[in-house]
Amino acid sequence: MKGLAMKRIGEIGWIEKEAPKCGPLDALVKPLALAPCTSDIHTVWEGAIGERTDMILGHEGTGEVVEVGSHVKNFKPGDRVLVPAITPDWGSYEAQSGFAQHSGGMLAGWKFSNFKDGMFGELFHVNEADANLAHLPDSIDVAQAAMISDMVPTGFHGAELADIRLGDTVCCIGIGPVGLMGVAGANLMGASHILAVGSRPDCAKAARGYGATDIINYKNGDIVEQVLEKTDGKGVDKVIIAGGNVKTMDEAIRMIKPGGKIGNVNYLGSGDYVIIPRVEWGCGMSHKFIHAGLMPGGGLRMEKLASLVEVGKLDLNPLMTHRFTGFEKVEEALLLMKEKPPDLIKPVVVC
Ligand code: NDP
Ligand code: ZN
Repeated sequence: MKGLAMKRIGEIGWIEKEAPKCGPLDALVKPLALAPCTSDIHTVWEGAIGERTDMILGHEGTGEVVEVGSHVKNFKPGDRVLVPAITPDWGSYEAQSGFAQHSGGMLAGWKFSNFKDGMFGELFHVNEADANLAHLPDSIDVAQAAMISDMVPTGFHGAELADIRLGDTVCCIGIGPVGLMGVAGANLMGASHILAVGSRPDCAKAARGYGATDIINYKNGDIVEQVLEKTDGKGVDKVIIAGGNVKTMDEAIRMIKPGGKIGNVNYLGSGDYVIIPRVEWGCGMSHKFIHAGLMPGGGLRMEKLASLVEVGKLDLNPLMTHRFTGFEKVEEALLLMKEKPPDLIKPVVVC
């Protein structure tokens, strides 16, 4: 079968590979819609997780089941399915301890385009299909479904890690597609003021649509000063980090109140250390909590997030600024994601 692969660090290309085999608990799925992720960019062009050779990329998509293993009960060929970017081994001790994302080792629940071929192939393999897949509701189109793989669960996880409570004032650093879902998640969880940090006008407009009350442009000066100015010098209750770099944690610590919680979902593609400012962190005694995580996977999570789209509480169309038709367009979409033109939020490919 054909797939768009990372050939080595810094190089992508189409390759031919043997189709994956379906184990007794597994499924093989044919993509119906696909989306490239900023994480693919970190992985290929920054070499952020190390060398990979001829690994098919992609971990965002939706598809149709082609084959299921003998033990699979809930799915059959022809079913249209939601597929999470993270597909844990649910029997692992890590999953039993509540951190299925790390089943088998840190970040090892993230299999597609990390430890095995991803979704940008004519077929892709899903482990533990009954636990990791969900049925795609008829009312959700395949493009929106692709956003439920990773953008919604990751952004919402940022809001969960920051533990947003009713009436909280929140700063969301980064308003690409992940940060926009951080804003939407914070809004659904009851935040009052949401200060959204980004520079691109189209992202700012979408952020307002998802509930941001103020926009802060990090290119117009220190974001901590801008946040303090907008909050009468008090700072914010919670921070979601969905963009920036190894220095961003320093800014988050400086803008948050004692007792505040920071939820980081940003994938730090480069730099060796994350900086925590000693004094602003209360010399270690500030009760300023740092939570950081990979999105939770699994079918139940997919079903719950899809239900927000089904009832009309979450509209994913504003994320998808660039739409392509045809499987082979996934290369163009990925390169567009790398270039990040100002009007891009997220490309999607309907296969
Ligand atoms: P984008 O690149 O589209 O968005 C990044 C955002 O951060 C933009 O709004 C950008 O502003 C802003 N930004 C960039 N530099 C700074 C800075 N110095 N200070 C403040 N804001 C800044 O990325 P995505 O939304 O697609 O993804 C966000 C991150 O989430 C990525 O690192 C991605 O790899 C990661 N990710 C993590 C997952 C997880 O499970 N934890 C899963 C999926 C993705 P602008 O462009 O407007 O100038
Ligand atoms: Zn991703």
